[in-house]
Amino acid sequence: MQIGDIRIDSLIDGEAALDPHGGIFVGEHPPTDEDWEPYKRFLDPCTGQMINTVGSFLLRYGDRVVLQDTGMGPQPGGDIFACGALRSSMWAHGVSPLDVTDIIFSHLHTDHIGWTTLNGKPYFPNATIHIDRREWEHYTNPDSELEAWEPNLLRSDEDKVENRFKPVLDRIELFEGDQEVLPGINAMEASGHTPGHSVLELSSRGERGLLIGDLAHSHGELVDGWEFYFNRDLPQALDALERFRGYLYDNRLPFAAAHFPGMPWGRLVKNDAGTLGYEVIG
Ligand SMILES: [Zn+2]
Repeated sequence: MQIGDIRIDSLIDGEAALDPHGGIFVGEHPPTDEDWEPYKRFLDPCTGQMINTVGSFLLRYGDRVVLQDTGMGPQPGGDIFACGALRSSMWAHGVSPLDVTDIIFSHLHTDHIGWTTLNGKPYFPNATIHIDRREWEHYTNPDSELEAWEPNLLRSDEDKVENRFKPVLDRIELFEGDQEVLPGINAMEASGHTPGHSVLELSSRGERGLLIGDLAHSHGELVDGWEFYFNRDLPQALDALERFRGYLYDNRLPFAAAHFPGMPWGRLVKNDAGTLGYEVIG
């Protein structure tokens, strides 16, 4: 995808395979097979599983090489995650870890911070690291309570934020809420999934596009308001979804989500009957 001068590529680290009827959606009316119908082509046709791709977005413009998030990393990921391919994905685009000038985190869950350090060393030694202040304070405060499911994401102590980021503490710059992080890259407040979750709006030469992070893990959350279990504050996450649903459709903005299968770009569209839907644009 090209947004003005900014070139964006999806870097795939791996994937998580989930049972779409296995309790990952909650609320009074979790999605049925019929609700899945418009999105069935995104389910694995062999297993029926919902595939959540895990990775990073690579943004290149001017002399900047920017990553949004750093994937899950190469440690074995239990029976849900199979990851560790991010560096191969980078080299496939002609980029070395040494080239990365900046990393901007959508949030600090394990499946977004994995390659930040490896074996106690910075994996991107020339990168400045940008994190929302609320996110950083929440995940590094020993008194913060994690959701019951959050420790299950951790594969070892190395996955804990305070350990993962120890070798790069001097490279961290904090932002907060709606703020320009780098020229042409604005963070937008989208808390709910986590306390300081951010969407990035990219703007260049009059064009715009959004990287929506974990605002939605499935198309049905974004289009139909399905309630995803793994949100820290579900009402706040649903508010953010509603806000961005309107913003994306009203402005006809292209966007990419961190976990949609294959990390493609898409947009919200309405059919002749006025029903909202999602289409892949590349
Ligand atoms: Zn995630």
